[in-house]
Amino acid sequence: MKTLPKSSRVVIIGGGIVGCSTAYHLAKLGVEVLLLERQKLTSGTTFHAAGLVGQLRSNANITQLLGYSVDLYNTIEAETGLGTGWKMNGGLRLACNQERWTEVKRQATTARSFGLQMDLLTPQEAQDLWPLMNVDDVVGAAFMPTDGQANPSDITQALAKGARMNGAQIFEDCKVTDLAIDKGVIKAVITDQGRVECESVVLCAGQWSRTFAARFGVNIPLVSMEHQYMVTEPIAGMPKNLPTLRDPDRLTYYKEEVGGLVMGGYEPNPIPWAVDGIPKGFHYTLLDSNFDHFEPLMELALGRVPALETAGIKTLTNGPESFTPDGNFIIGEAPELRNFFVGAGFNAFGIAAGGGAGMALAEWVKNGEPPFDLWSADIRRFGRPHFDTDWVRTRTVEAYGKHYTMAWPYEEHSSGRPCRKSPLYEVLKDQGACFGEKLGWERPNWFAGAGETPQDVYSFGRQNWFDAVGREHKACREAAVLFDQTSFAKFALKGPDALAALNWICANNVDKPVGALTYTQMLNDHGGIECDLTIARVAADEFYIVTGTGFATHDFDWISRNIPAGMNCQLFDITSSNAVLSLMGPRARDILQAVTRADVSNEGFPFGSTKTIGIKGCPVLALRVTYVGELGWELHLPVEYATTVYAALIQAGAEHGLKNAGYRAIDSLRLEKGYRAWGADIGPDHTPHEAGLGWAVKLKGNTPFKGREAAQAQADNGVQKMMACFTCDADVVLLGRETIYRNGERVGWLTSGGFGYTVDKSIGYGYVRNPDGVTRDYVMEGRYELEVATQRVPCTVHMTPLYDAKMERIKG
Ligand SMILES: Cc1cc2nc3c(=O)[nH]c(=O)nc-3n(C[C@H](O)[C@H](O)[C@H](O)COP(=O)(O)OP(=O)(O)OC[C@H]3O[C@@H](n4cnc5c(N)ncnc54)[C@H](O)[C@@H]3O)c2cc1C
Repeated sequence: MKTLPKSSRVVIIGGGIVGCSTAYHLAKLGVEVLLLERQKLTSGTTFHAAGLVGQLRSNANITQLLGYSVDLYNTIEAETGLGTGWKMNGGLRLACNQERWTEVKRQATTARSFGLQMDLLTPQEAQDLWPLMNVDDVVGAAFMPTDGQANPSDITQALAKGARMNGAQIFEDCKVTDLAIDKGVIKAVITDQGRVECESVVLCAGQWSRTFAARFGVNIPLVSMEHQYMVTEPIAGMPKNLPTLRDPDRLTYYKEEVGGLVMGGYEPNPIPWAVDGIPKGFHYTLLDSNFDHFEPLMELALGRVPALETAGIKTLTNGPESFTPDGNFIIGEAPELRNFFVGAGFNAFGIAAGGGAGMALAEWVKNGEPPFDLWSADIRRFGRPHFDTDWVRTRTVEAYGKHYTMAWPYEEHSSGRPCRKSPLYEVLKDQGACFGEKLGWERPNWFAGAGETPQDVYSFGRQNWFDAVGREHKACREAAVLFDQTSFAKFALKGPDALAALNWICANNVDKPVGALTYTQMLNDHGGIECDLTIARVAADEFYIVTGTGFATHDFDWISRNIPAGMNCQLFDITSSNAVLSLMGPRARDILQAVTRADVSNEGFPFGSTKTIGIKGCPVLALRVTYVGELGWELHLPVEYATTVYAALIQAGAEHGLKNAGYRAIDSLRLEKGYRAWGADIGPDHTPHEAGLGWAVKLKGNTPFKGREAAQAQADNGVQKMMACFTCDADVVLLGRETIYRNGERVGWLTSGGFGYTVDKSIGYGYVRNPDGVTRDYVMEGRYELEVATQRVPCTVHMTPLYDAKMERIKG
């Protein structure tokens, strides 16, 4: 019997594939690590996974992470001498109608953008690879040769062995019962075999993670759902290297196993499990097979694989798995507790993701940051609504049910709504608002006019809101519009050291007089953009910080953890205190002047400044700023005044053509003006100099700030990728992820796409990459094409905004 060590730098809780992979990678990095599993390795969810390993996701870095898993699974058997059942037999995906075929073709383009091979096949070619299937209804298929399948338990054991070979310690039958935390600092884990001192904890406890972490104030939004697959007896004529198969129009997936088939799927009406808590002693345990619930999937599968009609059924496995509200897993350091890392909620792709997730977690623990931007899986993407397990479950049921439904562009969730409402919600609803949702907030996407229904109708072409958004866009360019941006995240940083702290965290200079407004990035040590926000100095010792709705948790975490030790200032999230009305357009000044006595002339209220002005008895903090490229103000006001101020503006605006407008118009307007969007165009993997934002970095002068050295190095030595704008004359729908070709060579992909109504063109942004360096001249000298749904279309490159209000006015 080994005795439990008294200490370890890192303790991993949970011995499923994710915990074992994390231990393997930490050990390889030379970090002292102890993995504790309360029962046996794999005894949670891992032992009953089907074992398909697919790679393509809609995000480049998650795809890269899954690709890393494949690379690891290709070598781990030879490294450890343990069989893993891994075979790279490729993955097929079918399309059974034209819309799905468009989706599959767009996915093939996305794969190429991210450097993966994905071939389009005719139904006959697909059938040649998968002879057991009927292809009567198949329009086409895509084949990814590097996808594969593994035996989940074996691959986990191989990772565990590899971890031990590199010095990790693994203890089974050792349950972690508690954490010892002193003044917010993790000191130890408490187990049923004693205490282990540690610096960091990595929670890889699968579906047990949410309840465990909640005891320490950490929110992990996942819930358990039943998931079933059937295993058949051997089927005659089964090829040895049958690829895995996904048949989304029939909601099912397949893989070969011991000469038979595994067939599972995603029902539209999934069954949540353990709503009142996971029963004690649930390990190596399955749920009762639910044949009635599986029958609709079976019916769909029979139409595809007639041999199932006569194949003997060995088992119908029903296992619970943790799923999340947006279908992506949860990784990273918890914002609520330093040195507490999470890798959980793998949505039935934990075997596929396990290798890469373990690598990413290990680097995060060792270096304090992930190896690359993992925002779409980052634990900080969640916020207030995710504290309520019932809300999480409601949204997760929807996400599960949509696993194989068409992933429409601009698709919104429908469950758990409305949740967070601006005071103007009902008023705007009455005026035809079609709402979208972000972090629980209802936000107007567009406004239906007379005879139009405020409801999205999805397609891969121009959607039903296209003209409505065009009207709002035109109104903003020619008259004025009001956007309800109440959902903006807003923070106050207050205290004698607030200025010093912010000047260290911000790349731009915020040391300006009271009343000044600064647009700035916050950089990591590699110069990557962690936050992109505006900051108003409202008092000598107080700043008002405004950032995007979805970044509330992330940006709050980044700012608070980077306030230098010993500085005296406090950060507060005041999002719920203020409504925000953005009045934008050439007539904005006339309208604002009509409702306030304050001087809002250009001299009295210049761009980049703020003032508290009175409107109808309300103290309004007005920020002269724009994200749409027009004259305008963001009006921040206490929520109780929102309807009063809104009514005053609408009344004053009537004679100036003021209209309501929504977020889809904002996106179209900002694309024309070249404003970047964090999470799409910019993020931790991109620097200001690469993104064309070098002008906002305070390199003149000697002020030290976080990321300065990296930014300076790029300013001195140049960059290897640079953001450019592309327009297409052809009528193509650009959504992001389309491949960029320069002189016939693949050099990147679009980070965002849309349509500019003023320039009357489709617009995309993306980085042009070249390991030998990229300059503006290099970008402009190229001849460009975009690949859209596998078709190359010529496009024009631009390095200056497509639209500039001042220029237009001069021209006009
Ligand atoms: C039916 C089904 C089919 C699936 N098919 C696939 C597939 O084809 N491809 C794919 O990629 N994925 C698939 N999955 C998903 C995959 O199985 C999971 O995503 C993956 O196994 C999750 O691994 P994990 O390490 O996060 O969790 P787990 O395997 O559940 O590991 C967590 C471990 O933590 C331990 N633990 C919990 N609390 C404590 C504590 N306090 N102290 C110590 N230990 C603790 C548990 O005992 C458990 O062993 C499927 C899942 C199901 C249910």
